Amino acid sequence: EIFPGDFSGNPMQRMTPKVLFSTVVPVEFKNPKLIIFNEKLSEEIGLGRYEEKDLGFLVGNHLPDNIKPYSTAYAGHQFGNWAGQLGDGRAIYAGEIESPSGKKTEIQWKGAGATPYSRHADGRAVLRSSVREYLMSEAMYHLGVPTTRALSLSLTGENVVRDILYSGNPQEEKGAVVIRTAESFLRFGHFELLSAQQEYKTLQELLDFTIKNYFPEIQSEGNQKYKDFFENVAERTADLMVEWFRVGFVHGVMNTDNMSILGLTIDYGPFSMMDEYDLNFTSNTTDLPGRRYAFGKQGQIAQWNLWQLANALHPTIKDEKFLEGTLNKFGDYFWKRHDKMLCNKFGFDELWESDEEFLINWQGLMQEFQLDYTLFFNLLEKVGHYDLKDEFERISYTVLDDKAFSKIKNFISQYELRIQKNKISRDESLALMRKSNPKFTLRNYLLYECIEEIEKGETALLEKLIIALENPYEEKFPEFSAKRPTKYDDVSGCSML
Ligand code: AMP
Ligand code: MG
Ligand code: MG
Repeated sequence: EIFPGDFSGNPMQRMTPKVLFSTVVPVEFKNPKLIIFNEKLSEEIGLGRYEEKDLGFLVGNHLPDNIKPYSTAYAGHQFGNWAGQLGDGRAIYAGEIESPSGKKTEIQWKGAGATPYSRHADGRAVLRSSVREYLMSEAMYHLGVPTTRALSLSLTGENVVRDILYSGNPQEEKGAVVIRTAESFLRFGHFELLSAQQEYKTLQELLDFTIKNYFPEIQSEGNQKYKDFFENVAERTADLMVEWFRVGFVHGVMNTDNMSILGLTIDYGPFSMMDEYDLNFTSNTTDLPGRRYAFGKQGQIAQWNLWQLANALHPTIKDEKFLEGTLNKFGDYFWKRHDKMLCNKFGFDELWESDEEFLINWQGLMQEFQLDYTLFFNLLEKVGHYDLKDEFERISYTVLDDKAFSKIKNFISQYELRIQKNKISRDESLALMRKSNPKFTLRNYLLYECIEEIEKGETALLEKLIIALENPYEEKFPEFSAKRPTKYDDVSGCSML
């Protein structure tokens, strides 16, 4: 069924039972302008170099005949509630490309027009959210965190109306399109949709397809295959949460329709990298006051989301004991990995039982003195070689008095003692720390500044940020190794974009 993307009538969502996707025609944007093109990714996936004649394609114009764009239907639980049928509201698939080495990659435009799943929205994306998605997904990739990626960012030449603060005072903003790529964009929600519609045969077919294409490690057959699949998804999801904790990433909208079945970070909306360590920090202003999606809750929420996936897969797997058992094991698995990850950040040889108490003390210290998460671990590498007072003032977002310094000093002594007991050398310990602790994180205020500049047509900061985010374990620019300036205290969170 063809659904024109520049449809200007009533783009209300249509219920599309028995339909997994709809053919969509992207908008023909008249005056596109390229802002960033990701040459390396393009070569890697088999698209080759960028030429000026490709610009139209980057926003969805002048499509070759072998491309039949489509958007998919999915469902999901949003903020804990069943939301029924959803779907790609502003994402349109161009299809899949195969690289010379045989690797397959899906390609999507985000912001190229309305789809049957746009509900009352326009299917457009603004420059602001597009810059955020492009830069953050690439930053995550270079940090080594599983993620979707970004191939290009272009202005559409068209303005879009948005009321970001629901102030009743909508503003015009520049429209943009990002091309994003992934091995697959399949979400928990795709499985939930089929299950809710009781299309159990198709559900099983989708499972077979997913396992065959994206889970080559699963070699079992019959019902065991689906059990292995669910276990595998649970582990990938837990591993992803541990990675988010490692780098200080807060997703902000962990609805089940935003959970990748492959365990990738997907749907960059009101995310934020954490500045001051705070388990209660939510980057999403519409997540207040409940803080369902706060930093410290992401493991727990992932488990809740896996419960919804288990329910969806129940008609195929049937074995309730198994499903419950797998979900119950999630906590153990997650915390083991989580604590091991923290040990690596501290440069400990392995996780000792006595480390548990140390880690709890550490959390208390970080929270109480509002210490910068990234800078704290960078500072630990220099232990014994700095002025404690100066350095902790530099990384704290609050005023530290003598009592605070004596607590910090005490903690650092504990740390030094623990490091001395390592069975690995100091060099090995430092190497562990250097690959676990980024020197650069894409802080929300940096994105904010970068967007302001791009709006004015400048790209100096953008170019610098790209160099920094491609080398997050090095200090490319000393000015990025500082805490968030006070004047940006209010941009550590953001609204739905
Ligand atoms: P999110 O919270 O970003 O995952 O979005 C929830 C749903 O709203 C998804 O199905 C999106 O595709 C859809 N959506 C968000 N923004 C727009 C938009 N501007 N136009 C159409 N659909 C949208
Ligand atoms: Mg989404
Ligand atoms: Mg989104």
